[in-house]
Amino acid sequence: MPPSVEIPPRLLQDLRSAQNVAALTGAGVSQESGLRTFRDPMDGLWAQYRPEDLATLDAFERDPELVWEFYAMRRLKGGQVQPNPGHYALAEIGRRIPYFSLITQNVDGLHQRAGSSDVIELHGNITRLRCSRDCGPVTEWKDDPKKIPRCPRCGANLRPDVVWFGEMLPEIELERAIEAARASRVFLSIGTSAVVHPAATLPILAKESGACLVEINPEKTPLTASADYFLQGKSGEILPELVRQIWR
Ligand code: NAD
Ligand code: ZN
Repeated sequence: MPPSVEIPPRLLQDLRSAQNVAALTGAGVSQESGLRTFRDPMDGLWAQYRPEDLATLDAFERDPELVWEFYAMRRLKGGQVQPNPGHYALAEIGRRIPYFSLITQNVDGLHQRAGSSDVIELHGNITRLRCSRDCGPVTEWKDDPKKIPRCPRCGANLRPDVVWFGEMLPEIELERAIEAARASRVFLSIGTSAVVHPAATLPILAKESGACLVEINPEKTPLTASADYFLQGKSGEILPELVRQIWR
């Protein structure tokens, strides 16, 4: 089968010999698994809301049931879908490259389910819960109650362990991501619109630190002009092809 995208031989060579590679993924990587990106139109009840109006602490305080239901729906959907060939290819790259850091903005846990380990989750994970007053440890979201569970310590509502718009990123993860971006010789920005900060600064930081910057996306983004290579297409098609051509 001919490759759907031309992968420049120099990039293949760079990746084949690279010791240190980092990748940043966004919602686009899970699109082929059947999860919507935030730029895709929502359907049903959610068509009347913008994600920016649901994924905030303000919204949760104003209407906890609505926000809870939005996350319960996303969590349920996330559990029903499977990792796609893009997730598996990234897990394979992780096994092949001596130092590989996988940084994700996704909260769906699909990278881990595809076999990636030590994933740097910048925006948390939808399968975990924590106290909305941050009083205690994070817990697994075990069942799917219609009613919002209360914190066993302080009685406040539990909330999904994700980073909402306007919130700070988890400090340790952000530090690890910055370190990985700085140390990488090749940085892959995959399936992200590259507009949500501070994640969007990581590719630029990598490039300023001397990395070769590669972008994989069906659409151009604000990052495209800075990329050394823009591989236009779906990550579920390009990444497996990349792995096949590098290590065939
Ligand atoms: P985004 O929705 O802003 O952008 C998605 C990007 O993916 C776009 O640039 C689009 O062109 C590209 N894309 C679409 N289909 C693709 C494919 N098949 N292969 C490769 N790329 C494809 O997503 P973002 O940049 O991740 O930022 C939005 C925020 O939304 C993030 O904070 C993220 O946490 C959150 N989010 C997460 C999920 C998830 O966990 N699956 C889903 C929706 C939103
Ligand atoms: Zn509490």
